[in-house]
Amino acid sequence: MQYDMTDFSKVLVSENDIGRKLDEMADAIRRDYEGQDLLLVGVLKGAVMVMADLARRMPPQVQMDWMAVSSYGSGTKSSGVVRILKDLDADLTGRHVLIVEDIIDSGVTLSWLLGNLRARGAASVEVAALLRKPKAAVVDVPVKYIGFDIPNDFVVGYGLDYAENYRTLPFVAILDPKVYEG
Ligand code: 5GP
Ligand code: MG
Ligand code: MG
Repeated sequence: MQYDMTDFSKVLVSENDIGRKLDEMADAIRRDYEGQDLLLVGVLKGAVMVMADLARRMPPQVQMDWMAVSSYGSGTKSSGVVRILKDLDADLTGRHVLIVEDIIDSGVTLSWLLGNLRARGAASVEVAALLRKPKAAVVDVPVKYIGFDIPNDFVVGYGLDYAENYRTLPFVAILDPKVYEG
């Protein structure tokens, strides 16, 4: 596949980097949950690629479920009020749950999600995220498995979009500001 690379100011994480990191994360997850029932919960739509590639590295008893949420807020600021657009199919009672996320920025959505899922009687709820921005490192959102700490730039690719575009890229890139500044 050919891409117009002039849309990006930099490729931040290559396809190979992602693959190697997911190998490491999956090794740790398989070790930690060995002999336990595990449910991966993906947050649509951004986590689709991470979920697919992480789940492929799991034993066949590991299950997947999906949620879609939207954060209420004015403009670009997240208010912390989150609405469920699509809820899980699974009953979490007594289950070990691992939330699979694409990127954590303010951590607002994730901290709401953690509270919500923990209230459903899960045996445990942890988080795996491919990317984390600097803001997230200072808020109190415990992320057990983290791929890459990245700078505070707007990135696209590997599930992450700008206006629903760029999700299909196999790598993560910094979007050149000319694309959204017109
Ligand atoms: P938080 O609640 O942690 O501030 O927001 C997390 C969500 O914001 C992510 O799931 C993602 O949808 C979006 N987001 C945060 N940073 C970026 C970014 O650099 N690029 C893209 N495409 N989305 C981002
Ligand atoms: Mg997300
Ligand atoms: Mg988006």
